[in-house]
Amino acid sequence: MLMAYQRAKEEIVETSPQTTDAGKEELYLYSLRKMAEDNVENNRTELTHLHNMKSFFYLCGEMIKAEPDQKYSVVIMDIVQFKAVNEFCGRDEGDRLLKFIAECFQWYEDHRKDTYACHVRADIFCLCTQYEDVRELENIVSEIKTKIDEFPFTYKVQPSFGIGISPEREPAVSYLKDCATMAMNSVKGKVYQTYAIFGEKMRRQLMRERQVENDIVGALENGELVLYIQPKVNMSTGRIIGGEALVRWLHPEKGLVSPGEFIPVLEKNGFIINVDEYIWEKVFAYLGKLKEEGRELVPISINVSRLHAYDTGLAENLIRLREKYDVPAQFVPLELTESAFLEDEKGMYQRMENLRSQGFLVSMDDFGTGYSTMNMLKNQTLDEIKIDREFIRDLEKDKSQIIIRNTIAMLQQLGAHIVIEGVETEEQKEFLLGCNCTDVQGFLFYRPMPVEEFDKLLWQQEREPDMAK
Ligand code: C2E
Ligand code: CA
Ligand code: CA
Repeated sequence: MLMAYQRAKEEIVETSPQTTDAGKEELYLYSLRKMAEDNVENNRTELTHLHNMKSFFYLCGEMIKAEPDQKYSVVIMDIVQFKAVNEFCGRDEGDRLLKFIAECFQWYEDHRKDTYACHVRADIFCLCTQYEDVRELENIVSEIKTKIDEFPFTYKVQPSFGIGISPEREPAVSYLKDCATMAMNSVKGKVYQTYAIFGEKMRRQLMRERQVENDIVGALENGELVLYIQPKVNMSTGRIIGGEALVRWLHPEKGLVSPGEFIPVLEKNGFIINVDEYIWEKVFAYLGKLKEEGRELVPISINVSRLHAYDTGLAENLIRLREKYDVPAQFVPLELTESAFLEDEKGMYQRMENLRSQGFLVSMDDFGTGYSTMNMLKNQTLDEIKIDREFIRDLEKDKSQIIIRNTIAMLQQLGAHIVIEGVETEEQKEFLLGCNCTDVQGFLFYRPMPVEEFDKLLWQQEREPDMAK
């Protein structure tokens, strides 16, 4: 676009040598606008003929610039489980529904002052409009919802809406759209709530997310991301049998930031891949150092984010690290949650099998929290299963005890090594030992610690073979 602007500018200057500077500028702006408007017509989506994002952003940007003192909002909508509509009713019916929804949005562009409608992608639509009172926006949501409810369709369609507003003067339309999306995501999965308005709490969260996105690249370069290891313990012997690598952010202002605060953001923008690889390298380097010093190696498992499901270079990368640091693959088990398998199940099974054939072990993380776990147990050979801490939380209930005891027995029969996560109390310890489960990871024994501290513990253990916690 910029190049085209530049060209237009040069053309005007060349073809109108006698115009004054002010006139030139005027003409230049006119031609830019003309070109953008022509572009707008070419930037409509094929199916619904609404503006696509590109021209929507342009048009709304111009609208807001023209009257910056007005209030603007983006209202966004997404159909819950649209995939199911296509699956149950067929693609043609799905398209018929999308065209109808597009008409509902287009209606506001045609009939409401200062309003543009956009087909974002698939089943996501939005509009940007000038407003006085938030109730106007709520009315738009309720009108669109009613129209969709009344549309003769064999499948009960459930839309979620988000209303993005900002107290700022002349807000960027992309920002309003982010706000709207965030509000919409907050109601997804809630049957009785159709829409949410972007509020102060969400604004603070969005700011935090933006901050993380801004800071993370520098953090990686400045060595602010550090490797922590939480020891895994055999409760019968008290000995450390391995560890799990967990990332920490030593933020210069905020101090120690735990992954819960930044990993979800990095999973959204894909940067988790870089962070994972950084941490993996540190793990291989540490194990390589132990090996070089002739010390005893213990397995340190690494977390493999679900985003690696798309990463075809995953195996290559791990093999490269294995060679570079000369560390046998079985000392770096890969912890994956089942969500890693949701998107491209077959591809992921193949990748895992490939890695297993290279000697890596596959550990299923957070067992007991998802819903397709049982299928995974049938389809993927798992070397280790980590039972989530939620699973052993309310042990005082008899029913919980029955479920845990039998689940452990079942998993043991499947031949996987079992690790229980989140052991915090003596009662949990005793109960688990009664289930023949010895290997755990939990605050009762050790919290995650800097790699140097972990190393000291290992060193002590090597020198005092009978050390027991
Ligand atoms: P996770 O993989 O399930 O890791 C275990 C989490 O449980 C860790 O939280 C650990 O500190 C915590 N934990 C262990 N024992 C106990 C206990 O007895 N009580 C309680 N309350 N918590 C316990 P952490 O370090 O905050 O990590 C949270 C999650 O962030 C991890 O869950 C993992 O999903 C993710 N994560 C951490 N580091 C990485 C990384 O380098 N890469 C990726 N992709 N994800 C990571
Ligand atoms: Ca894990
Ligand atoms: Ca876990």
